[in-house]
Amino acid sequence: MGIPLGLEHACEHVNALSDEADVVIIGGGIIGVCTAYYLAKQGLKPLLLEKGRVAAEQSARNWGWIRKTARDYAELPIVIEAQQLWEELAEECDTDIGVKRAGVTFLPESEKQLADYEAWQRDFGAVAGTEMLSAVQVRAMFPDAINPWRGAMHTSDDMVAEPFVAVPAIACAAVKLGAVIREGCAVRGLERAGGAVSGVVTEAGAVKTSRVLVAAGAWSSLFLRREGLSIPQLSVRSNVMHTKPMPNFFDGAAGEDNMAFRRRADGGYTMASLGFNELWIGPDAFRALPYYRQLLLGGSFPIKPRFGAPKGWPDSWTTKRNWKLDEESPFERLRVLDPEPNHAALDRMLGKFAERFPSVGKPVEARRWAGMIDAMPDVVPIVDTAPIEGLTICTGMCGHGFGIGPAFGRIMADMIAGREIDHDLSRFALARFDTYAKLELGPDV
Ligand SMILES: Cc1cc2nc3c(=O)[nH]c(=O)nc-3n(C[C@H](O)[C@H](O)[C@H](O)COP(=O)(O)OP(=O)(O)OC[C@H]3O[C@@H](n4cnc5c(N)ncnc54)[C@H](O)[C@@H]3O)c2cc1C
Repeated sequence: MGIPLGLEHACEHVNALSDEADVVIIGGGIIGVCTAYYLAKQGLKPLLLEKGRVAAEQSARNWGWIRKTARDYAELPIVIEAQQLWEELAEECDTDIGVKRAGVTFLPESEKQLADYEAWQRDFGAVAGTEMLSAVQVRAMFPDAINPWRGAMHTSDDMVAEPFVAVPAIACAAVKLGAVIREGCAVRGLERAGGAVSGVVTEAGAVKTSRVLVAAGAWSSLFLRREGLSIPQLSVRSNVMHTKPMPNFFDGAAGEDNMAFRRRADGGYTMASLGFNELWIGPDAFRALPYYRQLLLGGSFPIKPRFGAPKGWPDSWTTKRNWKLDEESPFERLRVLDPEPNHAALDRMLGKFAERFPSVGKPVEARRWAGMIDAMPDVVPIVDTAPIEGLTICTGMCGHGFGIGPAFGRIMADMIAGREIDHDLSRFALARFDTYAKLELGPDV
């Protein structure tokens, strides 16, 4: 199976730029694509603009877990809806997007982690359908494992899907319903009239619109800052490896610290260095530091600092923070954020896997890559209207956005269309960052 990451595949969506649109969506990841899909379902004609390729950044690079397990309480009802929507989308897409209730299992590295899992399960297990497995049950689940775990947190109806198939397929389904997508088209900024959004300026010209959604993933903070809105969003590198087809030692998705695996539809595994994240310190990281103090001081921020982000990255020291709308923007300079993976971390992951599963044999690698996860200091996203009339924001998915994406897309479509919102979104309000007040942190598991 070819993995269409980055610019190696040609643009699929090459429409001429219209002068006007009902809604402009900035970003062709799962959030932008699903919003376009649900807006088009309502009969609107959204225009989605993507600087690179649909799903070339986080939305194709992720592990494909669609989980309720260990989610924030405010996200739970939304991810429960998302799981239903994934099943509907699987029916509506022309391609098999690999949606399956394969189960998700969290394997504890330590007694402390097991206790954290137990605490989460006690509080939310009934809602999420999550149970704690005993050592005997874990042994039955992984009969080939050496030194198996003393328990596990498991949700049997959690799901998986194939990210780099699913998101482009949903984009095509949105187009069929009337959405227009243009790849290779960066949005440089907003135009305003009387304080309200009146359009966007892209590298290919201006588009009039009164409604804009920022779903720009790791670039949202850079985009919004130029518009006078500051959000403490940072991005961290996370590493992934695909294997070639191999013996089926486990059918679902599972992970412990520094090692995770999910069986794919093609018989290979997507493996990853779970919990190993690296942050390049740039000007935004310094600015956002006060917001991250709780995570830093609480010790629950397993992030390795790095210096000197490569040229062109959103928080690189040399990335322009301000630009004129008639000049090239940082979004055009780097079409796809495609970090080199940390090979040592992936090698360590393979070492751990070999120790745990010696009888499975050494996985034969198909490809390695990395992605930049967009993170927020309280580990939940921003899903809100902005204090600029006509502007909405859905970003900072904190490593969970693939699974929950269809529901946030559905919610954003309703918000943009002015319909009543049927979920409590107060936890995701932009205003929580108006001051440096103490934040309510998401689950520490
Ligand atoms: C390695 C890794 C593993 C992960 N595993 C999981 C998982 O198993 N389950 C899960 O639920 N989540 C997972 N995630 C997180 C998930 O992938 C993200 O939360 C989700 O894809 C974010 O979607 P998005 O649409 O917000 O952003 P993105 O997918 O990053 O899309 C944003 C898009 O906006 C475009 N853009 C930015 N600025 C502009 C501009 N000015 N003009 C036009 N276009 C612009 C970008 O090019 C990009 O394509 C993982 C992430 C990574 C990196």
